[in-house]
Amino acid sequence: MDIQTRQQITLRLPHHQDKAEGCCICSEAVDLPRSDGRTEELLVLPCSHTFGSICIIRWLSHSPNRSCPLCRRRMIYRGCGHAVKPYEVARAPRCVREEDMPDLCLVCRGGGVLEEQVRVIRERQMAVQRTLQGLRTWFPGLVGGVFRVDTVESRIGASKRKEEKEVAAIYAELEKDREEW
Ligand SMILES: [Zn+2]
Ligand SMILES: [Zn+2]
Ligand SMILES: [Zn+2]
Repeated sequence: MDIQTRQQITLRLPHHQDKAEGCCICSEAVDLPRSDGRTEELLVLPCSHTFGSICIIRWLSHSPNRSCPLCRRRMIYRGCGHAVKPYEVARAPRCVREEDMPDLCLVCRGGGVLEEQVRVIRERQMAVQRTLQGLRTWFPGLVGGVFRVDTVESRIGASKRKEEKEVAAIYAELEKDREEW
């Protein structure tokens, strides 16, 4: 079977039904220790071809044109030039034809929105912190009298912690089980 035909057949499959249990680069079984003692897990590329994790990661980082070893499809996002990362078979998105691949990688796609959300949070919390600092600097008597200094300190601390928590939540959201290439 030529590569073109094989690619068309695998792309017609609704999900990864390619049950190859071995890594076709090193020819050893996956999920079992290899002869060098290391264990590979099965990873899949958007063309639906599967490989052992150690071999495919090494292949994609060293091969000059970054392509699938079986169908030679390039594993680079056209728009941003970043590498396509193989997914663990169990949590991989469906396979996608080359022409239907997004132009930008997930990080570049989410990047602008993400940065804006982080900027808004940081600015809001910085305004709160500036107000509190201002109270302490300009109205020491007032702060000492009405709000105690340690209250101002603890409120600034709380504001910073809130900021960190909100920013961390945004990054966690991006990292969550993704179903996209
Ligand atoms: Zn291998
Ligand atoms: Zn392929
Ligand atoms: Zn990118």
